[in-house]
Amino acid sequence: MGKKDLKFNSKTIHGGQEPDKAYGAVMPPIYQTSTYAQATPGGHKGFAYSRSANPTRTALENALASIENGKYGLAFASGLAAIDAVIKLLDPGDEVLCTSDLYGGSYRLFKRIFERYGIVFHFVDMQTTGDLVGIINKKTKLVWVETPTNPMMNIIDIKAVAKITEKHQLLLVVDNTFATPYLQQPLDLGADIVMHSATKYLGGHSDVVVGGLVVKDRVLADKLYFIQNASGAVCGPMDSFLVVRGIKTLHVRMQRHCENGMAVAQYLANHPKIEHVYWPGFEGHPNHDVAKEQMKGFGGMISFIPKGSNLEDTIRIVEKLRLFTLAESLGGVESLVGHPASMSHAGIPKEEREKSGVLDTLIRLSVGIEDKEDLIADLEQALG
Ligand SMILES: *Cc1c(COP(=O)(O)O)cnc(C)c1O
Repeated sequence: MGKKDLKFNSKTIHGGQEPDKAYGAVMPPIYQTSTYAQATPGGHKGFAYSRSANPTRTALENALASIENGKYGLAFASGLAAIDAVIKLLDPGDEVLCTSDLYGGSYRLFKRIFERYGIVFHFVDMQTTGDLVGIINKKTKLVWVETPTNPMMNIIDIKAVAKITEKHQLLLVVDNTFATPYLQQPLDLGADIVMHSATKYLGGHSDVVVGGLVVKDRVLADKLYFIQNASGAVCGPMDSFLVVRGIKTLHVRMQRHCENGMAVAQYLANHPKIEHVYWPGFEGHPNHDVAKEQMKGFGGMISFIPKGSNLEDTIRIVEKLRLFTLAESLGGVESLVGHPASMSHAGIPKEEREKSGVLDTLIRLSVGIEDKEDLIADLEQALG
């Protein structure tokens, strides 16, 4: 049986992985080396210098390609380094259309770095794809989609956007960090590039900062590889190893994240002190039908607004939580709580941020894989 034919759960463990050629090590050895001995000038065994390629990174890149149903994977020093490489495909004057409530770091990279180099970014509410068509012009080259969005949990119909990008010959990039390929596989829905902050669910243990890209097309892969090597923000061997290990349990972790996410979302929705819960699994969620269609489950990311609260009350709730650790990031086995307005989204001007719903009273949870009863008890005491 070829490894390409494996189903998803098997791919997380075996996809792109071979026992090591030297001693048959089942896990990829951590090739902690910058360079490789050559028998004659240029006579190396496929690896010459670790910015260009490193066997542990190759193991991760193959695993990424496999779980996303792509052909080529590229691993970077961080999610933002991966995003940086994608935008470097563009030239000054080119225009990009992005989902309006974008990850704060992506927004900062686009607005504060790349706009200085003449690339123009438009932020569009892509929940209705009609809004997209009106902004496309001759300079438009790329569409950047995040779904579910962070932290508002909006859902964007990848297939519907892909129809438009295909018609206008634009590159479609999907940041798949929140959903992971366990829940949705954007390349199968028409995306050209899948991007990951592997720091989150793929790594899964909050012990590493890594980014990844996956594509199907050879020409696009070559261009991205050129940028990866030329710009140099590569993933190191130790970090590559950690993410390969993390991916092996992605499916079991995600299953539990979804289960616990549903329990916590329902608990919050029924709580008298909660104003609103943002979670795509609710039938009343504005894009629930799209979520049901393109995702296998609804994940463990939840945002909510306490009833009648102001900034101070919100901060008090967040500080009172014990099992949910107050910290940046998401997607690890442990539950985290964040306050987007002052943490992950502090870099976005208040006016801009509130337009997409990121109010001072919004709290975001990354529901981990602890016992759900303990998580709910923690919320109960903090809201009490
Ligand atoms: C964290 C994150 C990023 C950035 O990734 P880093 O690994 O922190 O550089 C990009 N997109 C989303 C959705 C994220 O959550």
